[in-house]
Amino acid sequence: MRKTLLAAASLALLSSTVLSGAAFAEAVYPLDRATILQGSPFDFKVEFDGVVKPEDVKITINGEDYKKVLGKEVTFVEKEPGVEASAVLLRDISIAAPGSYKVEASAAGKTKSVTWEVYGTPALPKVKNVIFFLGDGMSVAHRTAARIMSKGNTEGKANGKLNMDYMDHMAFIGTSSTDSIAVDSANSMSAYMTGHKSAINAIGVYADRTKDSFDDPKVEVLGEAVRRTGSKALGIVSTAELQDATPAAVVAHTRKRADKAEIAQMMYDVRPDVVLGGGGAYFIPQSTPGSKRKDDKNFVELFKADGYQIATTKAELEQASKSNSGKIFGVFHPGNMDTWLDRNQLKKGTVGKFPDQPGLVDMTKTALDALSKNPDGFVLMVEGASIDKMSHPLDWDRAVVETIEFDQAIGLAREFAKTNPDTLIVVTGDHAHGVSVIGTIDDNKPGTEMREKVGTYAEAGFPNYEDKDGDGFPDRIDVSKRLAIFANNYPDYYETFRPKLDGPFVPAVQNAEKKYVANEQYKDVPGAVLRIGNIPRDGDTGVHAVDDIVLQATGPGADGFKGYMEESDVYRVIAEALALGAPTKRASAQ
Ligand SMILES: [Zn+2]
Repeated sequence: MRKTLLAAASLALLSSTVLSGAAFAEAVYPLDRATILQGSPFDFKVEFDGVVKPEDVKITINGEDYKKVLGKEVTFVEKEPGVEASAVLLRDISIAAPGSYKVEASAAGKTKSVTWEVYGTPALPKVKNVIFFLGDGMSVAHRTAARIMSKGNTEGKANGKLNMDYMDHMAFIGTSSTDSIAVDSANSMSAYMTGHKSAINAIGVYADRTKDSFDDPKVEVLGEAVRRTGSKALGIVSTAELQDATPAAVVAHTRKRADKAEIAQMMYDVRPDVVLGGGGAYFIPQSTPGSKRKDDKNFVELFKADGYQIATTKAELEQASKSNSGKIFGVFHPGNMDTWLDRNQLKKGTVGKFPDQPGLVDMTKTALDALSKNPDGFVLMVEGASIDKMSHPLDWDRAVVETIEFDQAIGLAREFAKTNPDTLIVVTGDHAHGVSVIGTIDDNKPGTEMREKVGTYAEAGFPNYEDKDGDGFPDRIDVSKRLAIFANNYPDYYETFRPKLDGPFVPAVQNAEKKYVANEQYKDVPGAVLRIGNIPRDGDTGVHAVDDIVLQATGPGADGFKGYMEESDVYRVIAEALALGAPTKRASAQ
């Protein structure tokens, strides 16, 4: 017994000696191959795998002491919270001169090195306005289905194009994360909005090892860059909660996209001139019924006090858009807004409770009107969020119709650009879904089983959607010969081969063992078949695919989009178009 204890003690002594004497740098942020906009603020961090003394650490950049290059001394953290290890941290630095920067962090005779590329931009902007459209989860199949459903196809040729089809420059976008080949909307949009890749769930930060989701090394987000470099107006429009990953990534910094109450604060801190979408629950104080805050902050009142027009319904949005202030804060739903199909045809979802929600087209129109009042131009981000939110539960009709509405919002931007040619329009998605159009489903095909009614190859023919009122949307979704759209990944669920007229599809529900099983609600739909899932049973919906995304763009600077690009490369093209790397004018802080 005594011997064992002694052995354990000496082992502990030995290992602590080893730790303090031999800890080395295991991570440097920004990561290797980071591309950094000249002059943009970021945090620099080196993490050691154990405790080190400051005097045992040497950090150089291109062979020179880091202090000389970065102009600041680091904060040395002997032991990081919850981690028996040291770190050095340098917040809010920037590098003025473009070039290659090799960072070497040495301790215990070992060196970790990363190389950053700091890029400059032209001194003068190529454009006055940038409109960035993000179709959340928008895959090639969504576009194909939207085109067929909206325009039709005769003898093999599309009877019309989508607005995004007319964009004359394009690129394939890879959407992987720093910690995974897969991606989520947080870190994908973050890469578009910062030029830095990050980890799943992270926004505007590199993901470090400490638990605190607000202490991670930050990088500048587009919203801040717009504020830092000039006096353009800034707008955010989304059909999701405004604290959801995509809109959040324009303004926020957190390791955890779920920090929605804090993200609401971060959005207010940047004060975009136009903010339109859902997520009201995080903007109202805890005392108000329906609030999801744990404090008494009332952002509706704060925005109002700052001179914003406030809107909570479509009617109020119309009223607000008549004002000349150029500042509108419109929140139309406590959570995510309802889909076009629910708002306009099926009246399901939460439309009964919130009957007067504007759509993405209404919101985009208002945003363009308000933002274009700024003589210096604007940057607007528009998200079609429910393409993704309806693709997860395999509700393809809703997802495709959302794509049509998203495309009509793009149509407004194209119209705007006709009279304002100094406008760059970018249309992209943040990740794909595992979905394809394979033909049609024809109720009049013989057979009793629904799968026998799936038409493939010549049997597919053409669907019979109609658009008699010419609004670009199918007059009804439950036609007798409709698109056959299937996912390649799913939980256990009942495939009904039919549109979900009763409300957004809920494919799987949790059982007593907290595993997701097929939702029995659809069991008795005539012809429904049980599909055994091919993803783990703790997943309730389909998942994102790693497939590339198609980006299309038009306007000055759009020729920068070509070939294969990362989302982080897209930021660089936007930064160049806006000359965000030019010596800053430093707009007076709001
Ligand atoms: Zn998603």
